[in-house]
Amino acid sequence: MSRVQRITVLGATGSIGLSTLDVIARHPDRYAAFALTGFSRMDELLALCLVHRPVFAVVPSQECASALQQALLQAGSRTEVLIGEEGLCQVSAAPEVDAVMAAIVGAAGLRPTLAAVRAGKKVLLANKEALVMSGALFMQAVRDSGAVVLPIDSEHNAIFQCMPRDFERGLSQVGVRRILLTASGGPFRQTPLQQLEQVTPEQACAHPNWSMGRKISVDSASMMNKGLELIEACWLFDARPEQIEVVVHPQSVIHSLVDYVDGSVLAQLGNPDMRTPIAHAMAWPQRVDSGVAPLDLFAIARLDFEAPDEQRFPCLRLARQAAEAGDSAPAMLNAANEIAVAAFLERRIRYPQIPRMIEDVLNQEPVVALDTLDTVFAADARARDLAQQWLNQHGN
Ligand code: NAD
Ligand code: MG
Repeated sequence: MSRVQRITVLGATGSIGLSTLDVIARHPDRYAAFALTGFSRMDELLALCLVHRPVFAVVPSQECASALQQALLQAGSRTEVLIGEEGLCQVSAAPEVDAVMAAIVGAAGLRPTLAAVRAGKKVLLANKEALVMSGALFMQAVRDSGAVVLPIDSEHNAIFQCMPRDFERGLSQVGVRRILLTASGGPFRQTPLQQLEQVTPEQACAHPNWSMGRKISVDSASMMNKGLELIEACWLFDARPEQIEVVVHPQSVIHSLVDYVDGSVLAQLGNPDMRTPIAHAMAWPQRVDSGVAPLDLFAIARLDFEAPDEQRFPCLRLARQAAEAGDSAPAMLNAANEIAVAAFLERRIRYPQIPRMIEDVLNQEPVVALDTLDTVFAADARARDLAQQWLNQHGN
């Protein structure tokens, strides 16, 4: 077998990061951690470094770096600590790295993820916000460098598995009619609409099927996550928004489907555990054990499907509109959503104010072309400013 693959895990202390390290640890003959990065929870990052013995760790500040470096030395570790975005980009593009798990949450992941893309790495993409913000530039960078992007989002990983190998020729060329993107409907699928005014961050983060970071958990409750995924799927599979249909499937056993012109519909099924798409992308085109239990269809017994309720989930409509508008609209949608979700988690706004804030921000700005990374970050900053103003006016 080929030599051990060295993997940089961006966002190692997060939900996806920890699942990735679990898969790495199951296959010491195949995988080793090259770099681990964390933004908070420095004690956990230290513990992970002592177990996985990466060459580098990356932390946000000089202060964190000094403390972590000292603790590592005391424990006899030779891991070297780097700092900030520069450190993140360095460990993403380092020549020794075979694959980069992009699992930082939000816009903060864009530059390091792009650094991995530009260096032509195998990029395991969990950080959907990076692609949503910069889609055209991101995919152009993939083509220019020859990077291989493998989706970690369970839906996109499922779609990838159900697509023909040569899907890059174009969906109509390979006989694909549409993509069916499944959604669980989250914790508020059946909550009476008037009660949504009172729901708490704790309720929003209590997802029925998946255990995830707080930001994506709120996005799943509002279905902005599905909206971001719709935009993500357009870029990854060169699809138009109208070729993607969202299907609510509360059991989260079918992770998405591809519908072909001959009437065939291919689906990927599995227990809701992110180690399956992570192991799939890490080993692709081979397969390795992920630690996930086999699917027990008799225990599941039934699979249900329903159309998404746009009144209940206005974020889905906003995301579809942004996908159709293109250019700066998805970056602005994403930035406004990041501010809105953080404000909701801090109890500064109520849950139904999330889509109101985003819609008001988007309505205030014309859509402009994004042809450089600077223009992407300018659109992001503009939306954050407008969202902050909205918050000062309407928030607690
Ligand atoms: P999380 O909050 O559990 O972890 C986020 C990680 O990013 C942590 O390691 C944190 O330290 C790091 N981080 C946060 N802010 C940072 C910053 N400003 N700079 C550098 N690092 C920073 O989130 P998660 O649930 O693991 O999600 C990570 C990404 O994967 C998100 O983009 C999410 O949409 C995507 N994703 C997650 C899941 C899931 O099941 N958790 C599924 C699909 C996609
Ligand atoms: Mg997903």
